[in-house]
Amino acid sequence: MNILRDLRRHPCFNAHAKGSHGRVHLPVAVDCNIRCNYCDRKYDCVNESRPGVTSTVLSPMQASRYMEKILEYEPRIAVAGIAGPGDPFANPEETIETLRLVKEKFPHLLLCLSTNGLLIADYLDEVTEIGVSHATITVNAVDPQIGQKIYSWVRDGKRIYRGLKAAELLLDRQIAAIEGLKTRGITVKVNTIIVPGINDSHVEEVAKTMALLGVDIHNCMPMYPNRDTPFEEIEEPSKEMIDAVREKAGRYLPQMLHCTRCRADDAGLLGENGNGRIRELMAQCTGPSSEPDERPYVAVATMEGVLVNQHLGEAYRLQIWAKSDESFHCVGERMTPEPGGGIARWMQLAEILKDCRALLVAGIGDNPSRVLSRAGIKTVEISGFIEAALAAVYSGLDLSEFKSKRKGCCSGNLGCPSSGEGC
Ligand code: SF4
Ligand code: SF4
Repeated sequence: MNILRDLRRHPCFNAHAKGSHGRVHLPVAVDCNIRCNYCDRKYDCVNESRPGVTSTVLSPMQASRYMEKILEYEPRIAVAGIAGPGDPFANPEETIETLRLVKEKFPHLLLCLSTNGLLIADYLDEVTEIGVSHATITVNAVDPQIGQKIYSWVRDGKRIYRGLKAAELLLDRQIAAIEGLKTRGITVKVNTIIVPGINDSHVEEVAKTMALLGVDIHNCMPMYPNRDTPFEEIEEPSKEMIDAVREKAGRYLPQMLHCTRCRADDAGLLGENGNGRIRELMAQCTGPSSEPDERPYVAVATMEGVLVNQHLGEAYRLQIWAKSDESFHCVGERMTPEPGGGIARWMQLAEILKDCRALLVAGIGDNPSRVLSRAGIKTVEISGFIEAALAAVYSGLDLSEFKSKRKGCCSGNLGCPSSGEGC
């Protein structure tokens, strides 16, 4: 990968590109795993221009449709990024799936991520393999005594940390994330939100530490005081304060001076935000697709090829059926991925079935069902004759009369291969 060439095309990492190259933020990551005391993630506020705000949240499939439309409208877009409205890795399935879909359909685009850094380290190999070339980590403090004033809590799995422990955990993860990104050749920007009286005199220390980690560029952003947040009473930093902070931090790292504090759903050239047409395009992508389904096949979990009678977790292979001349034929079989591997197993299955419009199963767990439906593959839990169900699927009829009688099979029973976190 030619990082220099890539740098030239990214309008945030290279000020010279801002008038010629645009970026799009795909708002697919709704949840967050930390609480910054300045953050308020509102929806539907088109007048606010700042990170964390979005008009809508898209599924990965919707994001891919939106990408197509936005590129037709603004072909100068060179970068697709995920920057919220929460954190990309508090929503790893959506994030990874969106990156894969975008890379597959638009291989010329640069891929970019913006995260608080808590969990990205777990996904470094995956994002590198997909082709992410740029990442931003927001590091507000390299001293947990200061960090604890900025974060109310940090959630790691099922545990919530507060105070010093929260700040220590977050900082450790951020350092590991930056090291891991740099080892993999990814260009790293660090954002630091300047909060007057909290970290403004600490930013030089942040820049110094980040330079030692090999960070490429630093973006000191003024905090926006949001109502109903713990920092609502703190005044937005003055231009003089920001200039002074950047001057000190600039002794260690190149400073980004052209950031426009974009929303989580911004698109186009930097500074040309709030374009109504862009929001219209996004709205057009939020409903189900009105285009006819061109995918020819339906996958079926069956033991003998007559009845839909297997749970997805039990099926080591699926039959692939097609319709021709008003009749149905089994055209082959495909192996399902080996058990284990968690969500990755179901993402692999989605890839195996990408030319299938639906999957007919006698039972399916929540995780595979969610992953497949986000990939646009309709999962139908039924029991009965395959051909009768196929007739209903291909003509878009109601499938309730075929509903599976194996009710309750996926309610999290121990030992069910598709339930719980192991899926
Ligand atoms: Fe808000 Fe981002 Fe902080 Fe999460 S990491 S609380 S979305 S500012
Ligand atoms: Fe670039 Fe700043 Fe906008 Fe992020 S918020 S996309 S760094 S201009």
